[in-house]
Amino acid sequence: MVFILGTVIGSFLNVVIYRTGSGAGLRGRSKCLSCGKVLTVAMLIPLFSYLFQGGRCAYCGAKLSVQYPLVEAASGLLFLFVWWVDRFDPVVSNVPEMLAYLFDTAAWSLLLVIITYDLYHKIILDRFSAIFALLAGVTLFLKWRFGLLTPEFLPVFGIYTSPWLDLFAGPLIMLPFTLLWFLSGGRAMGLGDAKLAFGLGWFLGLSGGISAVIFAFWTAFFPSLFLLLLPRKRFTMKSEIPFAPFLVLGSMIVFFLGVDMFTWAF
Ligand SMILES: [Zn+2]
Repeated sequence: MVFILGTVIGSFLNVVIYRTGSGAGLRGRSKCLSCGKVLTVAMLIPLFSYLFQGGRCAYCGAKLSVQYPLVEAASGLLFLFVWWVDRFDPVVSNVPEMLAYLFDTAAWSLLLVIITYDLYHKIILDRFSAIFALLAGVTLFLKWRFGLLTPEFLPVFGIYTSPWLDLFAGPLIMLPFTLLWFLSGGRAMGLGDAKLAFGLGWFLGLSGGISAVIFAFWTAFFPSLFLLLLPRKRFTMKSEIPFAPFLVLGSMIVFFLGVDMFTWAF
């Protein structure tokens, strides 16, 4: 059920991704982008309508973007993963746990929108990053309010951190990205990545945020190397690849697998 709910939200996220910046607004019935016919309810069932229609519009046969089922499936899986991590149970869970689940699903939905949009348009919209930072900020406040911000033990350094450090995690993790952007004149890193990193810092905390950034660089390194080695120099050192998907991948490693480089006991 959590997965199905996630695919339904995913189908709404597709609408957000497509209509943002198109001037169409979020209201109004969904239409085929090719023939303009209004889609019936049966054609709007996440995943299934795409599969049963063979990836084509039922009216005109135009090919539908594979983005639709991919975002729906990804959203379903994210909802499932968040549910596993938060162990939310509508019967047993208390209010803080319910709020944590709500805010975490909202945050991951937004990250899905951000990376899909970034892959298409090579830009991270400020409004998405701002809403994400706001969500992360509210989550951090709630954790503090319910006493869930606890000191973390860092085995590497043999010390406990103050949970107050997490309040500075946003600006601290944004800082290196802003410097990279500034010093390279925007060539090595976009300012959009810096703004996204701000929200991720608050979302994951200081040690989790730094871990996510390190994982992002590691996971971005090998695909980039592969692209550089492609024949006929289709990609050079000047080529741009979107970094946001790797930032989100790094965050997934931290959030879903619970891997935090600093609190790890070896
Ligand atoms: Zn059509």
